[in-house]
Amino acid sequence: MARWRRPLIKVPLGTQKPRLEAPKFQLTCSICNADVDATVVGKCLTGGSELVGPGAVPGATRADGAPIFLDVYSYLVRCTRCHSGLLVLAAYGDDQANRVGYTVEPMLFPLPTTAFATSQLARDAIPDPVLENMRQAELALAAGAPYGAALLLRRALQYICRDKGATKHGLADQIAELAATNVITPHLAGLASRTKIVGDLVAHPDPKNPFAIDDEDVVRARRYTEQFIRAVYIEPAELIDFEASLQSRGVNRKR
Ligand SMILES: [Zn+2]
Repeated sequence: MARWRRPLIKVPLGTQKPRLEAPKFQLTCSICNADVDATVVGKCLTGGSELVGPGAVPGATRADGAPIFLDVYSYLVRCTRCHSGLLVLAAYGDDQANRVGYTVEPMLFPLPTTAFATSQLARDAIPDPVLENMRQAELALAAGAPYGAALLLRRALQYICRDKGATKHGLADQIAELAATNVITPHLAGLASRTKIVGDLVAHPDPKNPFAIDDEDVVRARRYTEQFIRAVYIEPAELIDFEASLQSRGVNRKR
């Protein structure tokens, strides 16, 4: 389930060792995004091994020559704000001979999604299907499934084109149609086309070059899609709010 690709952090012996008896766990909730002292409702300690945890500490061994593995501390917690159940995995192991401990950044499940970090964006302005595609794309990327993310980004794009009145059949024609009718600028059409290409190459890979698309391409496509969404949905909504704010303060817009 978990990928422990996080770098080991060397710490003074014992200082960062998780406490199983701790009643609270400080975290940023991946569901509601609030910083909370989550209530611990269940916990267990699993001894580290080749199968569990981040693996052996490179270059460190016990007195008997055995490798040092980080133990895994699992906490089932409840967010005090939204009451969602979350799983926190922490890891710790120590090298008594050299008086040092090792840990990694704790992992939190469900994976946090930051693409559309709630408070920063006018979520109401974005259609639910678009937001859901973007949320799932973020999760897929975080879980190491960039191909899934690429398909979701293309899916979001297709929905946006139809939502904005495109009538043509294919996505390439829809993007061109929106540009021709000035619904989007040529720059936005360029961003959308690049995202479409990434999605297409994942959906219909060239047998001679099936791995043409890599993680970086998909991360870039996600950034393009986010810019597209900002321009098409969020900025127009913010502009309306700004106009209303100016008017409420009696600012003459014809100045
Ligand atoms: Zn929460």
